[in-house]
Amino acid sequence: MTLLDGKKTSEAIQQEIAAEVAEIKASGGKVPHLAAILVGNDGGSVTYVNNKVLACERIGFGSTLIRYEDTISEEELLIKIKELNLNDEIDGFIVQLPLPKHIDTEKVLEAVDPQKDVDGFHPINVGRMVAGLPAYLPATPAGILQLLERYQIETRGKHCVVIGRSNIVGSPMSILMSKCAYPGDATVTLCHRNTVDLPHYTRQADIIIAAVGKPGLITADMVKEGAVVIDVGTTRVPDATKKSGYKLKGDVDFDAVAPKCSFITPVPGGVGPLTIAMLMKNTLRAAKSEVYA
Ligand code: NAD
Repeated sequence: MTLLDGKKTSEAIQQEIAAEVAEIKASGGKVPHLAAILVGNDGGSVTYVNNKVLACERIGFGSTLIRYEDTISEEELLIKIKELNLNDEIDGFIVQLPLPKHIDTEKVLEAVDPQKDVDGFHPINVGRMVAGLPAYLPATPAGILQLLERYQIETRGKHCVVIGRSNIVGSPMSILMSKCAYPGDATVTLCHRNTVDLPHYTRQADIIIAAVGKPGLITADMVKEGAVVIDVGTTRVPDATKKSGYKLKGDVDFDAVAPKCSFITPVPGGVGPLTIAMLMKNTLRAAKSEVYA
């Protein structure tokens, strides 16, 4: 069994990006700049956004963090997005989700200029991804592709079972794994909360990608010998021994499942760290006008 080390892979990707930024700087080019809008004070969101800003600093990007109270109106937020769309200094920006209930998330995501949509959530980028055109890929599925590629995991003709159908992970993951590409070219089954007899599907899987948010959902009896298991789930469970008061649990019963696997991601330290690296990669692509030339 090989552990898929997301932390190490993420560091390698970020070092590659940093080297490119250093070259851009040396040749007098424009340094990539990422902006992030954070609404409210949700603990998870604050941590995620701070980590994104720190990553920018580490690899030499410019960054701007724009914070609002959760009482901000939808209109005010949309005005800010229009401003960022027009600001030539900003190559890409993200609106950290979730947004407060009084704000229409779809409307906000659609207001972002697709050329600056480095989260890859705008319907135009989603459509381009489905059509196989150059697009910003959502960071988590793109990170999983990187893991599969850098560990040279065979995917062609394999049966890949994706569990969870969210717009940010499960659904794009299923599309990308079915593309005629590497990594990809797999036969894909997409399971969700209304799938009848989930173990029936997972037991056939050469590759399982679980993106649900239910600790322990995937047990050893659901996994075929030699399978590749990618655990996207990150659920906070109380843990008095941790300074934060919680620990992160994946969807996979790691201790029991790992001995059966050829490859498996740990939680934490698996898929999570790659998400930031891929956001940085999208920002670099935006600065280089690689997607929308
Ligand atoms: P979500 O929370 O929007 O939806 C969960 C999905 O799981 C739904 O599609 C639902 O149909 C499916 N589901 C629920 N119960 C199920 C069951 N019993 N059997 C099969 N399917 C079931 O999904 P999300 O936003 O993609 O998040 C999923 C998990 O991934 C969460 O734990 C989240 O924290 C984590 N996540 C991690 C990262 C990362 O970078 N590591 C990024 C995004 C999400």
